[in-house]
Amino acid sequence: MLSAKLHNGKIVSSLEYNEEIHGSRIFCMDKNCNSPLIFLQGNEVRAAHFKTSGKGESKHQSECGFYQPLDLVQSISKVKEYQQNGVLDEMKETIIRLSMGRIDPDKETSTVESEKGKKDKDAVKVKNDTLTPQSISSVKGVVKLLTEFEPDVLSSILINVGGGRKVPISDLIIDQEQAHKMLWNDEMLKNVGYFVYGKVANMVKREKVMYINFEENVVPFTIVIFQQHWKDFSYNEKQLIGKDILVYGHLRKNDYQDKQMTEIIIKSDKYLENFKRK
Ligand SMILES: [Zn+2]
Repeated sequence: MLSAKLHNGKIVSSLEYNEEIHGSRIFCMDKNCNSPLIFLQGNEVRAAHFKTSGKGESKHQSECGFYQPLDLVQSISKVKEYQQNGVLDEMKETIIRLSMGRIDPDKETSTVESEKGKKDKDAVKVKNDTLTPQSISSVKGVVKLLTEFEPDVLSSILINVGGGRKVPISDLIIDQEQAHKMLWNDEMLKNVGYFVYGKVANMVKREKVMYINFEENVVPFTIVIFQQHWKDFSYNEKQLIGKDILVYGHLRKNDYQDKQMTEIIIKSDKYLENFKRK
């Protein structure tokens, strides 16, 4: 863990922690846990970090976000919990730029932009490294981010979506229910794509449009691919049905036959990524 809660409730980063200033009482930041932690100085192999000693009460509780490695859904749920509990007020923000424009086949990518993209890719780190990427430029990158970093690092992230707007990462990576609610309550950010996760139930191909339906838990959710983009979309039923996926795109309402349907428009393979549940 790279963050710990101090005796006074503030959160301290392992890079800044100093016992003389912050005191020796340090705890797990997860409200379900609060277990006492120990601090380990950094060395060549690993950055300074906090951990449980495994002795006495210094063990993470099973409901804690640090008890075991999390899958994408568990990870974003924990991050949402921490961010809704106001953790961003207590910790140093990590700003990551949303720059998904380069996956759009309808937009010509300039060389400058793709060079930038390359550099950002190189910045992707090793597990527990403190270095988060500077930008989000692929769906795969988001899956990596959510499964390779612990929830303390993730909950410090604000996404710069452009136009001076910065939003907690858990507002942008959402499940179909949240997407539906935000869309129909007109709470979406204008001109911003969202990342939505769910399990694929079926695929339906019509003459000019293809639909990929998520399993309906409370609300329906459909991925829409128009015919002009089929050439860049190679996924088949076998690769998608029953699979958990993260999809990126702009959400739109469909009120055909007075039903409130939530759709997301995608243009190629690059707009979705499989991930494994535990
Ligand atoms: Zn814990």
